[in-house]
Amino acid sequence: MSSGTYVYILLCGDGTLYTGWTNRVEWRIKQHQQGKASKYTRSRLPVHLVYQESVADRCNALRREAAIKKMPRKAKLQLIKQFFPYKVVPQMDKLAVEVNFLTHIINDDCISCGACAPECPTDAISEGEDKYHIDPEKCIDCGACAEVCPVDAPNPEE
Ligand code: SF4
Ligand code: SF4
Repeated sequence: MSSGTYVYILLCGDGTLYTGWTNRVEWRIKQHQQGKASKYTRSRLPVHLVYQESVADRCNALRREAAIKKMPRKAKLQLIKQFFPYKVVPQMDKLAVEVNFLTHIINDDCISCGACAPECPTDAISEGEDKYHIDPEKCIDCGACAEVCPVDAPNPEE
């Protein structure tokens, strides 16, 4: 069983995302799945864990939970993309499609300086003939390439 304090996101039966925090992840998720943890998830069963993040303590958990709750769905999907190991039920497949759609792309402003490639945690960036390219299958949309680019060529794909 996972111990420690965690913030988590559940995928609900209606496709919405629910964010919470707990000291006992597996127990808490079971409570949700049995309709005993919150009014919101009780009326949207079944629910599935799609993201968890370790935090230092209750205070940090409450802060992080509030921050995630305020995020737009796309930003939550970016978090989930880094964690998402599931493909077990139809709702998960739909979420996987939505999550996998997220990627950065490099536009024509690229001057092929090569600064972005070493920063990519998933080796998604490679040199092309006219500019650098991002492999959408590997990109986890972290934004590290955009931070180092001198000409703002990498951008989230809309
Ligand atoms: S957004 Fe992150 S994962 Fe995607 S190409 Fe850029 S550095 Fe790599
Ligand atoms: S850092 Fe920017 S300009 Fe340099 S290769 Fe990457 S995308 Fe192109």
